[in-house]
Amino acid sequence: MKELIEGDGCMREVLYRAMDGRMDRRGCERGEAVCQRCELAGIEAGVEGVEAEVEGVEADVEGVEAEVEGVEADVEGVEAEEQGEEMGRGEREEWTEETTRRWEEESKRAGRSSGI
Ligand SMILES: [Zn+2]
Repeated sequence: MKELIEGDGCMREVLYRAMDGRMDRRGCERGEAVCQRCELAGIEAGVEGVEAEVEGVEADVEGVEAEVEGVEADVEGVEAEEQGEEMGRGEREEWTEETTRRWEEESKRAGRSSGI
């Protein structure tokens, strides 16, 4: 009876083994009132099933989110393309000191080469 109290297997399994010497018994059988341990194991299995289901749903959600991100990336790509086109259309270099310096250098170089 020590096993029944301290063991963590099926209570019925332990009882049958002690009373009838049956070693082939594995847990409570269908149609029998389940013992506390089998009930607990069943509940745990059920909880695991639900958790697995939730994880599956979360994986689905992540998949959808990844899809949405992919679509958003596409949209951004299209927008960047459009902006590039707009920039290309309205391309107008701003005249800065840097431009002046470059222009002067180029004209100096041009003047030198034409002088030779
Ligand atoms: Zn049991």
